[in-house]
Amino acid sequence: MNETLNQFKDYLKTMRRYDHVLTLLFWDLSTQAPEKGVETRMDAINYFSTEEFRLSTADEYGQMLKKLSEPEQFDTLDEAMQITVKRYLRDYERYKRIPQDFYSSYAEAKTRSERAWEKAKHSADFTEFAPHLEKVISMTKEYVHYMEPDQDPYEVLLDLYEEGIGSATIDCVFDELKEGLLPLLQKIEDSPRPDLSALEGTYDIQSQKEVQDMLLDYIGFDADAGATAESEHPFTTDLCIGDVRVTNHFKEEDPLSAMFSAIHEGGHAIFGQSIDPAYEGTALEQVNMMGLHESQSRFFENILGRRASFWKPIYAKLGELLPQFQKIPQETFCHAINDVHPSLIRTEADEVTYCLHIILRYELEKAIFRDNIPVNDLPQLWNDKMEELLGIRPENDAEGILQDMHWSDGSFGYFPSYLLGSMYDGMFLEALEKEKGSVDTILEEGRIQEITAWLKENIHRYGSRYTSAEVLEHVCGQKLSAQPLLHYFTEKYARLYGFEA
Ligand code: ZN
Repeated sequence: MNETLNQFKDYLKTMRRYDHVLTLLFWDLSTQAPEKGVETRMDAINYFSTEEFRLSTADEYGQMLKKLSEPEQFDTLDEAMQITVKRYLRDYERYKRIPQDFYSSYAEAKTRSERAWEKAKHSADFTEFAPHLEKVISMTKEYVHYMEPDQDPYEVLLDLYEEGIGSATIDCVFDELKEGLLPLLQKIEDSPRPDLSALEGTYDIQSQKEVQDMLLDYIGFDADAGATAESEHPFTTDLCIGDVRVTNHFKEEDPLSAMFSAIHEGGHAIFGQSIDPAYEGTALEQVNMMGLHESQSRFFENILGRRASFWKPIYAKLGELLPQFQKIPQETFCHAINDVHPSLIRTEADEVTYCLHIILRYELEKAIFRDNIPVNDLPQLWNDKMEELLGIRPENDAEGILQDMHWSDGSFGYFPSYLLGSMYDGMFLEALEKEKGSVDTILEEGRIQEITAWLKENIHRYGSRYTSAEVLEHVCGQKLSAQPLLHYFTEKYARLYGFEA
């Protein structure tokens, strides 16, 4: 018996328990915790996070990782354990290089900056937030410099969210996409917009929740391995393979918002629920590749959910739950859920203009990290780029640079992964249709479970065993390209809006 391996497995189990508690505390904080309990909750969260950080940087842990990486030990480990040891040793060494004092002051600066951002967004005043953003930018640079002293900081950040893609590839595919999207968007803009007035009205919240449950069940969410709740912004959280939770936010006047959030978060959750249980307790059950995760939520939400064929088998059921839909012809509904139109807010954007929102953020992040552009120039740069890409200009910073929270807490390098996810989807769709035939036929015949099963079989069950680039290679037999996504957009919107592709 390998004694170090057993010790290591026990140690990981302990770390997982801390993680379990923290995840639950955060879940509860975002869904249920009352205002007056928040301070005590934050204290508990602080305690468990500090303990978790201590465990993940303890000498004892490092020694086990180093011992297991020696060839005579390493070669006896199974594949999942080999990947685990390699990945955790890399993380251990990265975190070990960060001085404890710096780690705490960085955490504090981020918390202050988040609060300042919230206030600044509320009053649409960037100047309040600017000094905090400046500090977070410089500390983030320092933080990643500790982690990887010899690498370009922005490259390290990109790698934290989507391992192994890198800015050279992103530059290439984003440019390719931009070039194809701008003329397509022009054609869409020149066509008449769908009439959304048929959807106006108030929709009962309780019934909207029943629609959510119906949709989750329809796409393959396992209710015995998950739970649902409400929160300000919808999200998914994984406690373990058998417990993956989703939240939603219901609006009386906008039933589509909760419907598509349910499908989106459901996609994330199905991924988490479908990881091979044999990977439990290893690094493979944790999928930190945000682009790959996002590709699964968006596949359900956009590639499947915004098709007439997706709704055909369940449209009558939707009308039973929300009677207003009985009066809306299916064709009107399908145009309404594919209303493409430039708008200022990323989270409310359609699937086409969404891509340009991300390209804008990516270009700005490069300006921040590579060209060291002064923070006070950012709002103007944001607005100029908005005009260049989408032809509209924010009237104030709340509609512009202050709209997202990501930069306030140092999550630079995160945005590109959203768009990478959509590009993977274009490629997955191609591979799926090649193997199983027309997605529309499968959906129309009510066989959506076959698509879910295909995604599970080819992507989900592996967890994070493969990087995204490797998944693309295995599933699609090719490298990342913007063409399949462009092809999907062009074909779909030419048909819907009636212009020449
Ligand atoms: Zn998502």
